[in-house]
Amino acid sequence: MRKKIIIGNWKMNGRKVMASKLCTTIANEMQSLGNIDVALCPPFTLLEEVRQMIAGSACSLGAQDLDMHDDGAYTGQVSAGMLKDSGCEWVIIGHSERRALFGETSHSVSKKTKQALENDLKPIICVGETEDERKAGQEASVVQGQLQSVIDEIGVGSVKNITIAYEPVWAIGTGLTATPEQAQAMHSFIREQLGSRHHETAKTCRILYGGSMKESNAGNLLGCPDIDGGLIGSASLNAEEFLGICRSA
Ligand code: PEP
Repeated sequence: MRKKIIIGNWKMNGRKVMASKLCTTIANEMQSLGNIDVALCPPFTLLEEVRQMIAGSACSLGAQDLDMHDDGAYTGQVSAGMLKDSGCEWVIIGHSERRALFGETSHSVSKKTKQALENDLKPIICVGETEDERKAGQEASVVQGQLQSVIDEIGVGSVKNITIAYEPVWAIGTGLTATPEQAQAMHSFIREQLGSRHHETAKTCRILYGGSMKESNAGNLLGCPDIDGGLIGSASLNAEEFLGICRSA
């Protein structure tokens, strides 16, 4: 049985007061959520604030990106070691906004994944097709290619240490959600791909869905056999919505 996990991606949102209110509410409710994992990924500036607010609860901390290098002359960047030192357990890698807006490539996603693993961080690798790619029937090959380069870099033996987030780009922040059937089909395809490399890993690897998940649609998505949790953007900024998703898991 794979334990469900719900991860909040705050993107470039939040100030200390907001973070403190949101995290206090979530931390106070953690015990009532049952046997699921929950993590929050605030912007770098709020990592310490959030770390303090969730300390002592079962909620864990993550970051939204990292640099592919060790510490050094990379002005403006944040290393895996720094994230570890800040109390992070998780790091999101290859979010579609980073791929589309900041030049993230399969090469950099793969290198970052390796760097995260070497520093004992748990990478959440985002994959997903654009609307045009889906219209052209290319969603499977796009996702396969994105996954392939990561597996080639880290080796199939390390796949057990990553979490995958399937996030169709056309569903992120748009209010459009993949239907449970569309999402399940892709999750099952991803699991098959992993299974063709390593049967046991395919059974244990958690594959999350992301793309306008909210309290009202979470139950149907999270009820699919190959959907092991959610990567939540805008709904993670509202404590009641986020907790509602967690309760559906
Ligand atoms: C995301 O950014 O990972 C995401 C899924 O965003 P939203 O939930 O807002 O679509």
